[in-house]
Amino acid sequence: MTAKVLDGASVGKAIREEVAIEVGETTKRGLRPGLAAVLVGSDPASHLYVSGKVRTCAELGLYSEKIELPETTTTSDLLRLVAELNSRDEIDGILIQLPLPKHVDTSLVLNSVDPAKDVDGFHPVNVGRLTINEPGLRPCTPSGIIELLVRNNIKIEGSRAIVIGRSRIVGLPVALMLLHKNATVTIAHSRTEDLPAVAREADILIAAIGKTAVVGGNFIKPGAAVVDVGTNRVTNREDLVRFYGDDPKRHAAFEKNGYTSIGDVNPREVREVAGYLTPVPGGVGPLTIAMLMKNTLTAMKMRRA
Ligand code: NAP
Repeated sequence: MTAKVLDGASVGKAIREEVAIEVGETTKRGLRPGLAAVLVGSDPASHLYVSGKVRTCAELGLYSEKIELPETTTTSDLLRLVAELNSRDEIDGILIQLPLPKHVDTSLVLNSVDPAKDVDGFHPVNVGRLTINEPGLRPCTPSGIIELLVRNNIKIEGSRAIVIGRSRIVGLPVALMLLHKNATVTIAHSRTEDLPAVAREADILIAAIGKTAVVGGNFIKPGAAVVDVGTNRVTNREDLVRFYGDDPKRHAAFEKNGYTSIGDVNPREVREVAGYLTPVPGGVGPLTIAMLMKNTLTAMKMRRA
């Protein structure tokens, strides 16, 4: 068997197009969703992520503000800024790019965001709403994973879903979302005994671990849908060949950049057993940013429309 590709890029594009249409309609009525992205310090990856988010806002017609602050910014500076953004009616979503500098109290800052503008879905109020399945803003990566499954007609209700990873950003929220869609859910983690046997029970397997190719072919029930959330890098030739054989695209990327991307799943082994598999890159990544745009629109509708 060769697994079908669960193409996050095309699902992400479809979601972005839907958002753009709705933003066009609400803007005509004087309601243009607005996102403020707060970036502290000079971490190149964070700058890249925020630029991508701001660019996508412009492409879809949302208003956005990129607020860049120096590394020396204090917790009180950020609390003052968030209070101001909370009070501005045209700002529907507030995104605090993580990580914040070590001297900043990250929880205090994140928890000061108005839950109605918490487009990352990290505020305890929104976590609580997700837990009890009440309407609220949901974290972007987990909701993107659900969209990917639903739009590919993967049956969730009644299925066995195993989530490997229990972080508040991915593992825990996606497990709750699958539960609310009536899957029978198990959450596995670093202390789980006999992880391959637990994973083999899955009709839907979500790998949100952050470790290169931990999930091998022996983790997979034949025909399962496998979503690989991990974003890791292959940086040596031995692994390049082990995971990608002589795939010319991978070899070209490796020669150009000194690495190629890989997730938490061993693609070469797993695609032989699984029914569906997300690629890395092009799986979960494009959905995260699409769902951030959708969340900003939702936040606007919940608060202003
Ligand atoms: P995290 O906070 O580090 O959590 C990792 C989870 O995996 C933890 O629950 C940990 O268990 C578990 N784990 C670690 N090693 C394990 C092992 N050997 N066997 C079983 N479980 C193990 O990471 P995260 O924020 O959830 O992110 C996970 C991955 O997804 C990362 O590669 C991240 O870059 C990626 N990611 C991608 C996107 C995207 O848009 N593409 C978005 C978010 C995250 P314990 O709880 O027991 O420590």
